[in-house]
Amino acid sequence: MKEFTTYNSVEDLDSESKYLVHKAKEATVHSYAPYSKFCVGAAVILDDGTVVTGANQENAAYPLCMCAERVVLYACASQHPGKKVIKMAVVAHKKNHKELMPASSCGACRQVMQEFEHRQHKPMEVVMLSPGEKWIKCSSAQVLLPYGFDASSLE
Ligand SMILES: [Zn+2]
Repeated sequence: MKEFTTYNSVEDLDSESKYLVHKAKEATVHSYAPYSKFCVGAAVILDDGTVVTGANQENAAYPLCMCAERVVLYACASQHPGKKVIKMAVVAHKKNHKELMPASSCGACRQVMQEFEHRQHKPMEVVMLSPGEKWIKCSSAQVLLPYGFDASSLE
């Protein structure tokens, strides 16, 4: 499988990815982004077909803000323990604008995605809109964070 596959339009994605993009967009309704006004939604599908969504949650104490990707992953670990995350889609738009904007997952989220892959012994695909306005499907979080920090670093 290619590490990165790009698509010119959301319509070119596979149907599961398109559905997750749709669910991620829906999830932005629950963004709490009064400061950045940058609403982010994430949707994942688990190995039993369950779809879980999350949205970014900001705080007046800025460092406490939490990205949609980590919100949804921690919700999965808490509410669906033992199930594997197969794929995640992440979308963003400015508050009160419907048009999606490019949003590439931050380094912290990539680190957490990678830990999930280690935990579940299975890669998760990640779908997002790149700054080049193309949709990207990554074959795993591993490719999003080469040489990342993991448990072996602690030995
Ligand atoms: Zn993040």
